[in-house]
Amino acid sequence: MEDNIIQSLNSIRTINSVVSNMSSSASTSTLSTTSTTSRTFPVSNYPKSKYSQQKYNNNYAHRKENGNNNHKDRSQTNYSPNYSLSQQPHYHHKKRYRDPSFVPREFQFFPKVPCKLIDFVGGVNYTQSQDNGVIFNRVVEYFRNITTTIEQEEKLLDFSFFLREISTHNNSTSDSKEDGFYVKVTQSDPKRFPPDKRHNCLSCDKESETYIFSSLAYPSSTREEVSICHNSWFDAKARSMFIITPKRHVERLSDCNDQEIFSMFLLAVQIIEQETRLSNAPWNGIRFAGMTLNHGNARNIEHLHLKIKINNRDFDHFKNFGWDDEKKERFKILQSGIYKRDERLHRIP
Ligand SMILES: [Zn+2]
Repeated sequence: MEDNIIQSLNSIRTINSVVSNMSSSASTSTLSTTSTTSRTFPVSNYPKSKYSQQKYNNNYAHRKENGNNNHKDRSQTNYSPNYSLSQQPHYHHKKRYRDPSFVPREFQFFPKVPCKLIDFVGGVNYTQSQDNGVIFNRVVEYFRNITTTIEQEEKLLDFSFFLREISTHNNSTSDSKEDGFYVKVTQSDPKRFPPDKRHNCLSCDKESETYIFSSLAYPSSTREEVSICHNSWFDAKARSMFIITPKRHVERLSDCNDQEIFSMFLLAVQIIEQETRLSNAPWNGIRFAGMTLNHGNARNIEHLHLKIKINNRDFDHFKNFGWDDEKKERFKILQSGIYKRDERLHRIP
């Protein structure tokens, strides 16, 4: 039974993010080219959790007794009893080289009509049978236009991809019809190092501890046509974000089929909506700091992954008011640095 549960889990491999400084201005053109020299590469510290082996063992035993095998809730997994916090952590500090003379090309893509992402994908309860393909096709068309423009016309394969929402009002609770999302694509420095080669792909290796602890249950609004395409995750480094990966090992958005493209962004808004709803968040609608879907040498792991970045305070609100104890404990384990100790994910020298 445990094998079956683990088989049903999904993985994640994580990344140091490339954060581009974002301009808050928005033009109405569907494609504009600007340039910027300001890029930052944050160096993260991951606090060690006080989570003890004793507590883990108790928790593990408790879950075994309950034996909840609800496939819809992957958080109810029986974790490996061999998990140990006593192993020596392995730290990989990726060398970064930044050429001060490099001026990246930059592109912005806006939907034809200003639109919030959640509305663009038809809302969290979107159902294909009621759509006649209208919403589905416009979403696929929008993202395919980005990949075609960047990869085929501009011949760029290394780039950061950043989706954010803008508000025409300073008040973030406003609900102006002019509010909307756009995608900014920034050329990556050609001298940047490509992703490390690792022993296993975190998003594909169902045996890794990191895979098991970072797996997230699907939101209640997620339908089968979405869940068969993607897995959802905590960030393996326990940063304030959620992550979505295609179940297939693909490395580019352009390698995704239409269903995978549509489902990725629908699942993203479903995750944020559920977190917002369950935590009774005191703001209107859903909000997020940005979503990144980096390509080529702009990413730090190979498996395509959508990072849904959440403002730290919002993330804490979700955690404090929306998560059950089990979910909080799994996050603590990730905070303890399991990713760095996970030998299955080590870099190939
Ligand atoms: Zn993979």
